[in-house]
Amino acid sequence: MSHSPNQPILLTSSLHVDDARKAIAGLVKDLIQETAAIKDPADIETVALDQAINRILAIDLLSPIDVPAADNSAMDGFAFNGKCLDTNAAVISLKVIGTAYAGKPYEGFIGKGECLKIMTGAVMPNGCDTVIPQEFITSNDALAIEFKQDQLKVGENRRFRGEDLQQGKPAIAAGRLLRPSDLGLAASLGIVSLQVKRKLKVAILSSGDELRALGQTLVPGSIYDSNRYSLTGLLNRLNLDIIDCGIVRDDPASLKQAFIEAASKADVLISSGGVSVGEADFTKQIMQELGDVGFWKIAMRPGRPMAFGALKPVPGKSPARKTLFFGLPGNPVAVMVTFYQFVRAALLQFNGANQTEPPLAQAIAEAPIRKKPGRTEFQRAILERKADGKPTVRLTGSQGAGILRSMSEANCFVILGHEQGNIAAGDWVDIALFDGLL
Ligand code: AMP
Ligand code: MG
Repeated sequence: MSHSPNQPILLTSSLHVDDARKAIAGLVKDLIQETAAIKDPADIETVALDQAINRILAIDLLSPIDVPAADNSAMDGFAFNGKCLDTNAAVISLKVIGTAYAGKPYEGFIGKGECLKIMTGAVMPNGCDTVIPQEFITSNDALAIEFKQDQLKVGENRRFRGEDLQQGKPAIAAGRLLRPSDLGLAASLGIVSLQVKRKLKVAILSSGDELRALGQTLVPGSIYDSNRYSLTGLLNRLNLDIIDCGIVRDDPASLKQAFIEAASKADVLISSGGVSVGEADFTKQIMQELGDVGFWKIAMRPGRPMAFGALKPVPGKSPARKTLFFGLPGNPVAVMVTFYQFVRAALLQFNGANQTEPPLAQAIAEAPIRKKPGRTEFQRAILERKADGKPTVRLTGSQGAGILRSMSEANCFVILGHEQGNIAAGDWVDIALFDGLL
């Protein structure tokens, strides 16, 4: 999107969302190289096909067979030698000498003036290269058929052996986040197990003196810790191993202990809370000892403060790996937005996925949306198809960073780009659906 001179850039001291993403991707790339140098055989696992959903394929899956395995019919109809079309006669008449079913090939030869009734997927019989679909037959008395000569050309409605996939060629490339269609494709090749990247171990913790675990009694000023639950839900969609490190009090010793503990077990640590102005200095101090972590003000709403970096390998950790660290803001919606915008892609990239961005779509704004240029905004919204058939979005009430209800009611984000100003009713806006269908 180009920058309009009428819309002054505000909040220039903050980091552009795209720059934050680039910085994260760069650091993850370095960590991948360091990890690869360790050459841990446990980084690749073999899993049964029915367990492979949402795992990441570690090496190219080469097809052991040609798909389809033989030339076959693409239609229900009649197979014949296409040379018979080379005539001035307006109508072709052929004698029907038998039937080929899918799974039951016809062994005989089809000669001149003859044809074979054939089902979709049945192997093309010897001597045949063309199939006339059932619906073009003008006369059929079981023993003979007729059809108009100009209905088709030589070779039509035949699928060739290896047309979809040749033996030895990659059926699925390494780095694929495996979806239901990939499992179906692997099964169609007779593959019973896949080599996938091991599950990342992701530690989560919530920090804040005001937080109480579920089951505890709330005292005045305290609130239930919700972030670990929304994070668990988000992480479960990526089929990872989650290490729950609970709630940590706002005191340096507890926080440091918790970070060391998490770094000793996990590939990635995601904390929430404690990075906003006022608390960041405190967290910064601890981080200086444990690793290399930047504290960012990102030009986005919600989710402005965020810490990101890598923790040094904890002594005794084997193999000695760094831990990727995300210090997310404490506000419950900001946690989900920053996860969506930064963490998800980083986790996928870290584990070798070749596609890390969730798909975007567009819809029409039902009502005006206020937006200041100079930051990226994520608004919770409901996407619906209106009576006119057009995809329309409307915001779900109050958009405060702590209001989970409007998040819970929503089915998508409206994403308003950095330079975007106010949106008028009827404008097209970018959206990201919470649930992907496939
Ligand atoms: P902080 O980033 O620690 O300043 O927190 C910002 C806001 O989010 C405060 O109102 C916190 O009480 C709230 N908050 C922080 N962590 C959590 C959590 N785990 N669950 C629910 N709310 C939280
Ligand atoms: Mg706090």
